[in-house]
Amino acid sequence: MLGPQAGSILVVGGTHGNEPNAPWLLKQWQYQPDDLQHSNFVLQLVHGNPEALADCRRYIERDLNRSFAAALLAEADQCSLEVRRARELLQAHGPEGVSPALVALDLHTTTAAMGNSLVVYGRRPADLALAAGIQQRLGLPVYLHEADQAQQGFLVECWPCGLVIEVGPVPQGLLHAGICRMSQLALEAALAVLDLAAAGSLRLPPALVVHRHLGSVDLPRHADGTPAALLHPRLQGGDWSPLRPADPVFLAAAGHAIPLAAVLPSRLRGEPCFWPVFINEAAYGEKGIAFSLTRRERWPLDEQALVALQGVAQALQRRQVSP
Ligand SMILES: [Zn+2]
Repeated sequence: MLGPQAGSILVVGGTHGNEPNAPWLLKQWQYQPDDLQHSNFVLQLVHGNPEALADCRRYIERDLNRSFAAALLAEADQCSLEVRRARELLQAHGPEGVSPALVALDLHTTTAAMGNSLVVYGRRPADLALAAGIQQRLGLPVYLHEADQAQQGFLVECWPCGLVIEVGPVPQGLLHAGICRMSQLALEAALAVLDLAAAGSLRLPPALVVHRHLGSVDLPRHADGTPAALLHPRLQGGDWSPLRPADPVFLAAAGHAIPLAAVLPSRLRGEPCFWPVFINEAAYGEKGIAFSLTRRERWPLDEQALVALQGVAQALQRRQVSP
C-alpha cells in the first residue's frame, strides 16, 4: 500500500547554499500554502543543502549538484557532506524512497544575465515534453546540457522526470523579490503542464527550441593559474545572443581583444555561430568556465515525448488516489 505522500513532486530550493531565493520561497509557501498555485498534486518542499545555506556558501565540501552520479553515490569511502546529503535526499524522496517523488523541480539562480530559463539534462522524452509545455506558456529558453564529461551527477537526473528552473541575474547570497517572482511563475507553469498531462489534455507545440551545450571556454590564464584576460565588455550580458568566431570574447591586460576563434576548442572550429550562456557566472570560475557555448536547434516533438510525460503525470495521480 502506498502512503499519502507517494508519487509526489519534489520541489528543491537551496541545492546551492549561496542561492537563497528559492529557500525563501519554500518558507513563504509554508506560511501561505495558497500563495503557490498548483493542482492537487502533493508537493514535497525540500531544502537541498541546509548546512551550506546557513553558511551562505555554494557547498561545504563539494558541489551537491554534481554529487548524484551513480558511481559516486555507490563509493563506500565517499563520505563528504554533500554525497551524504545526496544519499539522504534519495532515501527520503527518491523514486524508491520513503516518500517517493516521481518529478524533481530544482530551483536555482545565476549571476549571469540569462533571465528565466530551463535547464534540461540529456534527452529524456518526459523532460523534453515538460520543457516544451513550459516554453509554450512562458517562452523560456531551454539549455540542454549533455555529453560533458567534466560536469556530471545532477540532482534531477535521479528522478524519472525533472528539470532545473534557473533565474538571473542576481548576486550570490542576495534575496530579491523579482527573482522570487520569476522562479514562482516558472514553477507554477511546470505544475500546470503536469496537471494537463495527468488529465490527458496537454497539447504540445510541434517543436521544442533548445540551446544544446557544445562546450565551455575558460579565461586565458598565466602558468600560475591567474587570469591573463577578463571577459570582453561586449560579451558581458550577451547570454542567448549569437556569437561568431570573429567576435571579441576577452580583453587582455595589455589591452588587445581576443576573438572567440582564438580560444575555441578544436572540435568546435568550423561552427559558424554559437549562442553563449552562463557568461561570467560567478560560481563557475572554480570550474574553469568563463562561458558555455550552445547551438540553437529546433527539435520536432514526437508523440513519444507526450506519452512519456503523461505516463509520469498519471502515475502521480494514480498513486495519490491509492488507498
Ligand atoms: Zn545553483
